Amino acid sequence: MTTSPVWHPFTQHALQPDAIEIARGEGAFLYRPDGSALLDCISSWWVVTHGHRHPRIIQAIKDQADTLDQVIFAGFTHRPAEELAKRLLARIGGDLAHVFYSDSGSTAVEVALKMALGFWRNQGAARTRIIALEHAYHGDTIGTMSTGARGVFNASYEPLLFDVVRLPFPAQGKEEATLAALADACRTGEAAALLVEPLLLGAGGMLTYAPEVLTAMQAICRQSGTLLIADEVMTGFGRTGTFTACEQAGVTPDILCLAKGITGGSLPLAVTLCTRAIFDAHYSTDRSKTFFHSSSYTANPIACAAGVANLDIWDEEPVAERLATLAEWQSACLARLRDDARFTHLRQCGTVAALDLVTPDAGYLASIGPQLYAFFLARGLLLRPLGNTIYLMPPYCITRDELDGAYAAIGDAAAFLGARA
Ligand SMILES: *Cc1c(COP(=O)(O)O)cnc(C)c1O
Repeated sequence: MTTSPVWHPFTQHALQPDAIEIARGEGAFLYRPDGSALLDCISSWWVVTHGHRHPRIIQAIKDQADTLDQVIFAGFTHRPAEELAKRLLARIGGDLAHVFYSDSGSTAVEVALKMALGFWRNQGAARTRIIALEHAYHGDTIGTMSTGARGVFNASYEPLLFDVVRLPFPAQGKEEATLAALADACRTGEAAALLVEPLLLGAGGMLTYAPEVLTAMQAICRQSGTLLIADEVMTGFGRTGTFTACEQAGVTPDILCLAKGITGGSLPLAVTLCTRAIFDAHYSTDRSKTFFHSSSYTANPIACAAGVANLDIWDEEPVAERLATLAEWQSACLARLRDDARFTHLRQCGTVAALDLVTPDAGYLASIGPQLYAFFLARGLLLRPLGNTIYLMPPYCITRDELDGAYAAIGDAAAFLGARA
């Protein structure tokens, strides 16, 4: 496959010439053309929730493909989009009242930023600053990269990125510094919005913080009217143990971004939910106040139908119980490594667990990362460490035995690679 013209994402082709072909997916597994299996311990980059090819979602896709494939969404609508929007709002509640469709997590966050800026500008207020967290990740477009942590990923694009107010990460014991910095930023009167990943920062290293911090951040924002944007692109749809992570903090944000798990991981789709106040700030006979955003495939009917089927699964299958059970298993597996000196910073948020391998060079480009990845692949496991951070974010259908096997491989990897160091 070295002759392939395909340029893969986040792939250094000089070091990793061959992509692995996958022919089939089912439940927690991916299969190569020769039939050999890989346990998908990272839910195919955090998107698959109930498992690959859940029959209900696949049937909905087939049925919708038979009736309406695509239609322009400016001035037109269709039942799957209407139903998905109503049911998302009913499930999430709070003050969220409107649903804007797009097609990836990055675009959902771009839409959120544009809604926040439009909200203030249409009211004649000069509030344009975005506040974001240290170690944040919000996507790979220029706007979302601007709000994310700066580093090797975006150094080349630095001249195009806009400035944000950066809050220190609210690590345990250091929450006060975060909250004080937020209060300072809000006091300037220039802050349009605080953008956060609730409870669990994904690409920044699977870092967790307490729900109380999120609750306190919302309280500070409210005092100055600063909008709260929750980027639940990864944390949404059960990853943290609840439908949204915000639920655990009793927070209803002004703007909520959802993407990855929205179709159960079957098709690309995203939504940005907002309050009536934000919609109303754009509601005017003055056409210059229109919300000027669209992508060609906005609210694709087949993707929306998959989203509706996903919510049917949430309504009719014991998803909450599955999440609770998976979270318990993760805790039990992590507990066994707690006194193992080769690992540090063991952490968990709902169904997601992470730990750091003690290495001389930590960070995303830690040399151990590619070695770990190769070791796990050879053991039939798809795990993709963030440098020396190993994390497990499996589909909810994974079994206890499968999870135990993955943890056994993590222990073996530490022994094997440690012995060679
Ligand atoms: C993955 C991710 C994004 C970007 O989503 P894409 O669909 O890859 O564009 C944004 N925010 C968070 C928190 C994510 O994990």
